[in-house]
Amino acid sequence: MNVTIDKFSGFCWGVVRTIEIAEQELSESSQLYSLGEIIHNPMEIHRLEGKGLSTITVQELEKARGGRVLIRAHGEPPSTYQKAAELGITIIDATCPVVTKVQERIRKFYLDGYQVVIFGKKDHAEVIGLVGQTNGEAIVIRSLDEIDKVRLDRKTVLFSQTTMDKPTFYKLKGVLQSKIKDFVVGSIEDEAIEFHAKDTICGQVSGRDKKIREFAAAQDVVIFVAGRHSSNGKVLFEIAREANPNTHFIEDAPELQAEWFENVEKVGITGATSTPQWLMEKVKKVIEEQFVLQHAS
Ligand code: SF4
Repeated sequence: MNVTIDKFSGFCWGVVRTIEIAEQELSESSQLYSLGEIIHNPMEIHRLEGKGLSTITVQELEKARGGRVLIRAHGEPPSTYQKAAELGITIIDATCPVVTKVQERIRKFYLDGYQVVIFGKKDHAEVIGLVGQTNGEAIVIRSLDEIDKVRLDRKTVLFSQTTMDKPTFYKLKGVLQSKIKDFVVGSIEDEAIEFHAKDTICGQVSGRDKKIREFAAAQDVVIFVAGRHSSNGKVLFEIAREANPNTHFIEDAPELQAEWFENVEKVGITGATSTPQWLMEKVKKVIEEQFVLQHAS
């Protein structure tokens, strides 16, 4: 049995940057709060907690009065910055630069009088941060079924949450474009962050579609490692499963099941953009030690 880790899996650069900022801050002082889970991976959170990171919610900001609070890659709405300032909190802003750009673009269109429509999940932290740029007025739609929330008589801009799927976004664009006279798509063209797209879907995720499909199709069984709350994890898992129905989702090695490895030769390990490399290495080691050796004996 051959166990391979997908060489394109692991943290996207926005997440690498966030973790580096957190580690740098923790090396200076062992008390740092993260507003929401720093990453949708319980194993990585646990590792950083060991260095002094505590997770709080916006409702619990009071706990961090006078302290340091890290804003994770998803970003936050302006109201969070205001509340933190009132509490004398020092903000360590680790918002992904791509998300910061999307926030800026949305704010600009909103101030120019556009109806802002966001293709995304309304409870997702990034979307809450994006809607916050419009005084809460942006319309969030997740599928074509929700299109009737959009007013057709207003000039409109359509943005996407950075981790949504492109095909649905472009279907949505097609329908809105055919119904609204003054309609544009929000995009980012920015040399500094090397982001050149006709939309705001992050290439770190959309580029993964094709690669993960190819990787999954070439295996007998695929172990997909990610946190269960990772939005990107859910999207990529579905893509891997489409390419290879023999794909299993796990958060950590104890969830591996012996029957998955019966009569297989090629085992592939892959994950979300929030899955740490060390965790995939650990899963590989467990498979090799517990299942490969077991089958060989
Ligand atoms: S997926 Fe893209 S937008 Fe999201 S954190 Fe990573 S680099 Fe930033």
